[in-house]
Amino acid sequence: MIKKAEFVVSNTNPEKCPKPDRAEIAFIGRSNVGKSSLINMITGVKELAKTSQKPGKTQLINHFMINDQWYMVDLPGYGFAKVSKDTRENWEKMISTYLTKRTNLCGVFILIDSRLEPQKIDLEFLLWCGTEGVPAALIFTKADKQSKTQTDKNVKAFLKKTEEIFEEAPDYFVTSAEKGQGKEEVIGFIEQLVEE
Ligand code: GDP
Repeated sequence: MIKKAEFVVSNTNPEKCPKPDRAEIAFIGRSNVGKSSLINMITGVKELAKTSQKPGKTQLINHFMINDQWYMVDLPGYGFAKVSKDTRENWEKMISTYLTKRTNLCGVFILIDSRLEPQKIDLEFLLWCGTEGVPAALIFTKADKQSKTQTDKNVKAFLKKTEEIFEEAPDYFVTSAEKGQGKEEVIGFIEQLVEE
């Protein structure tokens, strides 16, 4: 259960994140995938993460303290159509440094838009995590946007693609920030990770 969620700090430099003295879980995904909405839904704090960041805005690593016990981290999204090469390279450097060097990181959730067929950019990011040994799970977002049948179809298609990459399918959750769907499941999974 999440009883308390507070903003701690924003960073552009992964080396300057808070002291890695407690378990940490991160969220990432394509811009507009619904990451901020999901973080707000999960924590029950309406504007904890800022929704709908525009491309070109500073890319920040945002730390939140949960229950005075663990860190939840909102990472800058990928896949903006129109960002400069510099911005993209900056993002890559920042994210790869954070994900590979953060000693207290227990897992990263990769958010996937449940309305879409498998997207190359998401699969590539998942593959990169696998290669680097970063433990990743999937969250399919915006499930309320279409029928359950359509959501299931897209989820299945994505999982099938992951079978081409990994022996074991990643853990996954289907959520809707709009309806509160998947909240308990995601929190339960995080609690297991942070208590290990
Ligand atoms: P971010 O850029 O990944 O942080 O995405 P946001 O959380 O800002 O969401 C992008 C857009 O999708 C906003 O207009 C949200 O209201 C909408 N959105 C996010 N999650 C959901 C959801 O679960 N259901 C519906 N219907 N819309 C959502």
